[in-house]
Amino acid sequence: MTTPLNCRNYIDGQWLSATGEATLESRNPALRSEVVATFPRSVINDVNVAVTAARQAYQSWRKVPAPARAEYVFRVGEILLQHKEELAQLMSREMGKPLTEARGDVQEAIDCAFYSAGEGRRLFGQTTPSEMPNKFAMTVRMPIGVCALITPWNFPVAIPCWKAMPALVCGNTVILKPAEDTPACATKLIEIFAEAGFPPGVINLVHGVGEEVGKALVEHPDVDLVSFTGSSETGAFVGATCGRTHKRVCLELGGKNAQVVMEDADLGLALDGAVWGAFGTTGQRCTATSRLILHRDIKEKFTAMLYERTSKLRLGPGTDPNTDIGPLVNELQLQRVSKYLEIAREEGAKVLIGGDIPNEGQLKNGYFFQPTILDEVTPKMRVAREEIFGPVVALIEVSSFEEAIAILNDTNYGLSSSVYTRDINRAFAAMRDIEAGITYINGPTIGAEVHLPFGGVKHTGNGHREAGTTALDIFTEWKSVYVDFSGSLQRAQIDNRS
Ligand code: NAD
Repeated sequence: MTTPLNCRNYIDGQWLSATGEATLESRNPALRSEVVATFPRSVINDVNVAVTAARQAYQSWRKVPAPARAEYVFRVGEILLQHKEELAQLMSREMGKPLTEARGDVQEAIDCAFYSAGEGRRLFGQTTPSEMPNKFAMTVRMPIGVCALITPWNFPVAIPCWKAMPALVCGNTVILKPAEDTPACATKLIEIFAEAGFPPGVINLVHGVGEEVGKALVEHPDVDLVSFTGSSETGAFVGATCGRTHKRVCLELGGKNAQVVMEDADLGLALDGAVWGAFGTTGQRCTATSRLILHRDIKEKFTAMLYERTSKLRLGPGTDPNTDIGPLVNELQLQRVSKYLEIAREEGAKVLIGGDIPNEGQLKNGYFFQPTILDEVTPKMRVAREEIFGPVVALIEVSSFEEAIAILNDTNYGLSSSVYTRDINRAFAAMRDIEAGITYINGPTIGAEVHLPFGGVKHTGNGHREAGTTALDIFTEWKSVYVDFSGSLQRAQIDNRS
C-alpha cells in the first residue's frame, strides 16, 4: 500500500490548509482498508477566501488576450500527456474504474485542452448590417466572472476539465469543488494547472463536503456562475438557489438511457454495444445503458447472447489489467444498487444473472456488485424509470419500432440513446423522434467526443450543452455593440418611422 496523499486546497496560487482541523479521506473501493488520500473538510471561510482571490484575479485575467489565455490551457494538455499513466493509475485506485477506462478519462481531458485552446483564436462573434447608414453593428462574447465548478466522482479528471478549460479560455476565473470520493484526482489535476503557470487566483481548488462547501459556493453572492454535474436531486437544489440569487447556472444531471435493438439489427454489433454501454465503468456513467429495448423477434436470441457474454465478465480491482468490471465507488452506491435489486424482485422482474454482492476472495474487500440482467421488465416498473447507476440492465420487450421509441422516451430523463437497425428510414425517424440530447445509430449510448455538444433534455439538464462550441455559450455572455460614425444622432427605425 502506498502512503495516502495529503491533499490541500489551492487558493490564490498557494497550497493551503483549510481553516479548521477536520479532515476526511478517500478509500480504494476495491480494497476498503486502503486510504488513498486525506483532504480538508473546508468551511465557509475557505470558500470566502477562494472567492475573494478569484474575484480579484478576474479583473486582470479577463483582459489577457484570449489566444494568450488559451496557451495556458494548451500547456495543461501537454503536461497531462506526460502524466497520463500516473493519473490513470491514481484514478483507478481512488474510484475503481479499470485502467483502460481511466486512461480514456485522462485522454478526454487532453482532447478537451487542445480543442478548447483552439477556441482562444476563434471565440467568434458576428457582424451584421445596421439599418442606418454610417453605423457598424457587431456582437462580442464577454466572460461572466467567478465560476464555481461542482463535479462528481465518475469522471474525476475529464469533467473538471470540460468545465474549467472553456471557462478559462473565455476569460473567467474558477473555483473547483470536487467530489468527496476523488480528492486525490482533483489535487493532481490542479497541480498540473498550477505547473502550467496560470496567474494566482485564476484557478482555485476547495475540498470539502457538498452540503457545506458546495452549498456555500452556490449561495455566495460573489460567485457569478455555477456549473454543476451530479444527481438530479442536488441539481434541483443548485438550480433553485441560483434562480433565487440570480446566478447563471448550467446543470448536467442524471440519465436513464436506452438502447433499442430492432429485428433487422446486426446482433453481434448490438451485443458489443450493449455490454460496453451497460457495464462499462460499472454502469456508473451518466450515459450508461440502463434499459435494453428489444424487438420480440430477436429478444430470445439476443438475451441468450447477452447472458453468455455477461457470464464471462471478470470482476476485480480496476488496477488489474484482467478486470472487465471494477467496484462501485462507495458503500452508499453499493446499498443503492442492492436496494434497486430488492425493488426489481418485488416488482416482478426476473434476475437472469447477477443480482448480488459477490462474496468470493478479494472481492469481499471492496464494493463489488455482480453484473446483472433484469428480464421481464415493464415500462412502469421503477427499475425501468429511475437511475440505478450500477451494473444493472433492464430488458424490455416491444413489438414495433414505434413502441420502442415511445418506451425509450417514457422517462423523466433525456441524456443518451441508441438504436441498432439496418433500416435507414428507421434510423432517421429515430434521430427525429427520440427525446434526448444524444442519439447514436448503431453505436452504444456511451462514447461522447469533446467537440460535439454534450447534455440532455427534460430532468437531465437545464438546456445548456457542455463541450463543443456550445460550452462557450455557458461561459460567456453576448454583448451587442453599435458604432455610429455618422457624426449625428441617428434614431433607430422604431423611433424614426411612423
Ligand atoms: P451528487 O449530486 O451527489 O454530487 C455531485 C457534486 O455535488 C459533488 O461534488 C458533491 O459534493 C456536490 N454536492 C452535494 N450536495 C451539494 C449541495 N447541497 N450543494 C452543492 N453541491 C453539492 O452526485 P454524484 O453521486 O457525485 O454523481 C452521480 C450523479 O451524477 C448521477 O446522477 C449521474 O447521472 C450524474 N452525472 C451526470 C453527468 C452529465 O453530464 N449529465 C455526468 C456525470 C454524472
